[in-house]
Amino acid sequence: MASEQNSKQRRILLKISGEALSGADGFGINPKVLSDTAKAIREVQQQGVQTALVIGGGNIFRGAELQRTGFDRVAGDQMGMLATVMNGLAMREELIKQGGNCVLMSAYGIPSITTQYQARLGRELLNSGSCVIIAGGSGSPFFTTDTAAVLRAIELDCSEVLKATKVDGVYSADPVKDPTAKRFEVLTFKEVIAKELKVMDLTAFALASEHNMPIRVFSMNKPGAFMRAATGEAEGTVVSD
Ligand code: UDP
Repeated sequence: MASEQNSKQRRILLKISGEALSGADGFGINPKVLSDTAKAIREVQQQGVQTALVIGGGNIFRGAELQRTGFDRVAGDQMGMLATVMNGLAMREELIKQGGNCVLMSAYGIPSITTQYQARLGRELLNSGSCVIIAGGSGSPFFTTDTAAVLRAIELDCSEVLKATKVDGVYSADPVKDPTAKRFEVLTFKEVIAKELKVMDLTAFALASEHNMPIRVFSMNKPGAFMRAATGEAEGTVVSD
């Protein structure tokens, strides 16, 4: 894909889950988490890092959960995608409130609220210094926002997907349950499969592996970690070819 990216500028795609936005509340959007996340994104942008953002919707709705009670999965996933638009709207407003430029794009068309997602426009906006929030997931049911994040990172010619999680990387075992669990600094896609490690869902992981899109798993709660990850310093675990 032809790149219009300014070669001096790094371009990243941050994936944050809806759950992260709810903070300790467990549901909805926590204003402090929203404000802190927007502040962190602004700081990274001020270092010249072009920043795209994909937000999940799990703090509001997940299609698969209602399916278990017999609800139609397609309608449920559409509700999940709408949830990501709500989170995206909240983040756009917060970024603008803090003095940033931000455009909310969605693959799942809601023309009166969002701009229709287009890769070329997204790249232009990123080059102009705007944050681009991509809501609506992939626009299709049966996918996750992790898959949408990898897909958009490839389309937008990003250097990496930064997957924000509760832990500061990929471990050999669950570090909460196993104190001997070891954190990896780098892994190849093949090693992740061979060691049966969990980085992203299979569809997202396969897409990243096929297009050699690096995935960096890091903790958004660790002070300075997002800045280090965004600027390409050692932080978290990087999975690549
Ligand atoms: N979803 C979908 N297609 C997509 C992305 C998301 O149908 O491409 C729906 C799906 O129902 C999913 C919900 O939106 O459960 C919220 O996304 P996700 O579970 O990925 O959010 P997160 O766990 O990151 O908060």
